[in-house]
Amino acid sequence: MKKAILVCGLLAFGLVSCASQKYEHARAHEIKEAPVGVRQQKARNIVLMIGDGMGAEHVWTAWLCNKGKLNITALPVTGFSITTSASHTITDSAAGGTAIACGCKAINGQLGLTPEGNAVDSLAVHMRRAGKATGIVVTKSVTDATPAAFYAHVESRHDTPAIAKALVESGFDVVAGGGEGDFSEKQKEMLARNCKLLELAAPGECEPAGKRGDWLPQTVAKALRVLEKDADGFFLMVEGSKIDIAAHANDLPEAVREVLDFDRAVGVVLEWMKLHPDTLLVVTADHQTGGLSLLGGKKEEGKADAHFSTYRHSGVAVPVYAAGCGAAAFTGVRENTQLAPEILRAAQVNPRAVQ
Ligand SMILES: [Zn+2]
Repeated sequence: MKKAILVCGLLAFGLVSCASQKYEHARAHEIKEAPVGVRQQKARNIVLMIGDGMGAEHVWTAWLCNKGKLNITALPVTGFSITTSASHTITDSAAGGTAIACGCKAINGQLGLTPEGNAVDSLAVHMRRAGKATGIVVTKSVTDATPAAFYAHVESRHDTPAIAKALVESGFDVVAGGGEGDFSEKQKEMLARNCKLLELAAPGECEPAGKRGDWLPQTVAKALRVLEKDADGFFLMVEGSKIDIAAHANDLPEAVREVLDFDRAVGVVLEWMKLHPDTLLVVTADHQTGGLSLLGGKKEEGKADAHFSTYRHSGVAVPVYAAGCGAAAFTGVRENTQLAPEILRAAQVNPRAVQ
């Protein structure tokens, strides 16, 4: 009791800090005016955007730093996704990615497998069988856990050779991100031959947001231009992969820059959707990283004061945002495994009928 009183006293006099970090973002980006609303029609095109490790706390910290506006928070439908995996309360990106991509809970570290070890087809596979073009654009390696959940079936997310082989054989039309070093020369030739857009931008991960300029928004724009040519529509997965890395490092400025970079990519999709309204956009996360809390700041000045409580993932449910065709279904609090069936329903793709 005495100790508690002492700590309270020290806090009151500012002698004990709670180790929060302050960040002031120098240049706020404009958001897209009049974002796309909710439509009832069949979604011809699907854009699924995953902020790795991006909890609601990361979004609202970035919102403050961007002077009280984000494309993400302007989307008309919001919900929450429960992130527990088949094996743990706190998921990793492999099990989280598998839940989102394949609609089944997985064991941490495993990709595209049920807990019993059966391979499950991902959204990308179902969409391809329905005649749609498919693409992935990420800022870590294209063989990293989240993208790999859309094409690989392996017991270890670290089995990079098996994951690289699965990607080469997958039939994606667009592959963009880091990870050039994960492929042999022959595999790169095969990818180049099979893809309409192949961009391996770095040997490993892409540069951090503070150094890579407009790579993500520009590459998403390029991917949309390539994929929109398919008569049957397309499925594109975009990952803001490095929000997670910055949050693991408890680096608040870099975490904010990564979320803002991801938000600018969301803006590119919203702008494109004005001309292509037969599209569903879903923005979510696989889990929250760093146990971030927002403690203060000033939106007029783009300033935030926030505190990380762990170097690992946390267990909170993460936000889901949606706009466009079929977006109304993405509200409420749902298991992360409900995203894939809802996306297939919005696109009117029946996974059983097209097999
Ligand atoms: Zn992580």
